Amino acid sequence: MDPLDRDPSDAATASARPACTGAAGKVAPYIDRNRCEGKAACVQVCPYGVFEIGTLGRDERATLSLRGRLKALAHRHRQAFVVRADECHACGLCVDACPEAAIRLAPNTRR
Ligand code: SF4
Repeated sequence: MDPLDRDPSDAATASARPACTGAAGKVAPYIDRNRCEGKAACVQVCPYGVFEIGTLGRDERATLSLRGRLKALAHRHRQAFVVRADECHACGLCVDACPEAAIRLAPNTRR
């Protein structure tokens, strides 16, 4: 199955996950700001240091849904950020690890 077709909430996806051997930078993780709670599972599992935990800026907070704003407030606006998208090898470990199903992989448009 193509990594882009995977549903992060699909339990079968985890067992089908290939080794992290994809070419770097073709695919990148995208974070749903209305879902992320800054639990840092992605930071812990990514072998390439693609993520860091940071604080949502005022502009980013303004784009959140009501539910997203409440969640962000509860977590002091701490969320995961993609800081090295070009290092992503498309293994999908972060997609599987995120307890909020907040990460999806898509073609890297940040290059
Ligand atoms: S898919 Fe996720 S865990 Fe794997 S290299 Fe990319 S950012 Fe890191």
